[in-house]
Amino acid sequence: MQADGHNGNNALDTLKKSDIKVYELIGRQSQGIQTFEQYHKGILDALRTEDGIVYDLIAAEHTRVQDTIQLIAAENQCSQAVLAALGSVAQNKTTEGFPGARFHGGSEVVDEIETLAAARAKEVFGARYANVQPHSGSTANQIVLAALLNSGDKILSMGFDQGGHPSHGAAESLIGKLFEVESYYVDRDSFLLDYEAIRQQALNFRPKLIICGATAYSRTIDFAEFRSIADEVGAFLLADISHISGLVIAGAHPSPMNYAHFTTTSTYKPGGPRGGLILMGEDTALCKRIEQATFPGVQGTPYLNHIAAKAVFFKEALSEEYKARQFEIVENARRLAYNLVGLGYDVLTGGTDNHMVLVNVANFKKGLTGIIAQKCLEDCGIVINMNKLPYDKRCATVTSGMRLGTPIVTKNSMGVEQMDEITSLVDAVLKEVQVVSETEYELDESFCDEIRGRVKKLCSRFPMR
Ligand SMILES: *Cc1c(COP(=O)(O)O)cnc(C)c1O
Repeated sequence: MQADGHNGNNALDTLKKSDIKVYELIGRQSQGIQTFEQYHKGILDALRTEDGIVYDLIAAEHTRVQDTIQLIAAENQCSQAVLAALGSVAQNKTTEGFPGARFHGGSEVVDEIETLAAARAKEVFGARYANVQPHSGSTANQIVLAALLNSGDKILSMGFDQGGHPSHGAAESLIGKLFEVESYYVDRDSFLLDYEAIRQQALNFRPKLIICGATAYSRTIDFAEFRSIADEVGAFLLADISHISGLVIAGAHPSPMNYAHFTTTSTYKPGGPRGGLILMGEDTALCKRIEQATFPGVQGTPYLNHIAAKAVFFKEALSEEYKARQFEIVENARRLAYNLVGLGYDVLTGGTDNHMVLVNVANFKKGLTGIIAQKCLEDCGIVINMNKLPYDKRCATVTSGMRLGTPIVTKNSMGVEQMDEITSLVDAVLKEVQVVSETEYELDESFCDEIRGRVKKLCSRFPMR
């Protein structure tokens, strides 16, 4: 591999080896003066020649990722084969509609790509219907809402400030403006979902749609319980499993497939390309409405390169290696949580069932905030994100929380031993930092250099995969 790690030939070879079906489909799309391989071979060289500035920036991003520890729970790292599909001529095809019923000619090959992606998605999740067109997880949610609701209809969803996602109806979002949204909360003491309280709220509010799923919740979500609440009030249930979909695939978290009427996920969080996915379990009666809400409802043309890349990712997700890794992700997160509790950190709910650990840093050191934790760790090569916690007194740009996630470190083959090392690095930084104000701090330059060196050394033993 070249130093920049984006060798186009390499990526194509990997795609050929790992997914000959998608490789050949993309190949058929690009027959012409040059062969498929000749055309795609020079991708990185073309970038270097045509735009050295962007080339250098992408190379710098590669170096940043390789030399620092990635602990953002919402991130993952796709394979070279997925990257190859993203950077292929499949990107050029403009078409509208669904396979077999397109509004543009020349869609016969991309029809096969999309059909393959949807079939694999169904197999991966045990679904009866899969729509691989959503451009993102947020868009997947918008499509489901557009299919089910009229403006003014009622939605009950987890509050954005409680760990829910903006696309579930935050006041600032389009959803929040179009619909009447009420938030449900986690328990003030345990920080756990209180299903009885949600049931009572649903009985009072009478929503047409209940949304479950979160971006900052580290415990198992009881989809059966949510379905029974939805049935009691005659509501639809949407399970947004973006953060935990990899775990769901492997059985490391229960699946909502036959409880929720609709299941949505982003495709990058479980380790695929950027994009979204809509799934349905046993009851597929409303699938035509979902397709109309996709096009012309919410989106225009689908991104066929992303759909090809989703197909490649779904093949990977069917492998035993992928499934085993999901359990390791949880084991690593549990180890981080366990270590942090041992060092006196306030880990929300006392631990984790999934890939993320939420910590109230304000309870660790007087005046410490999420933004300071994020920044001083970043100074030392450890990449995390601040997180507004439920009932947090600080605003979203300051916060009292930090969120750590283990998908990427696990992908790069780190295990519990490395989690111990990471814990001591994080702890050393947070102990050393001197709080000046809500957002300002002091941290000795030579201390940062020392930690950065240790981080780089650790990362060099676990290269990006
Ligand atoms: C990340 C996330 C999304 C949004 O996905 P994007 O592809 O970034 O739009 C939606 N819902 C939940 C629960 C998420 O965690």
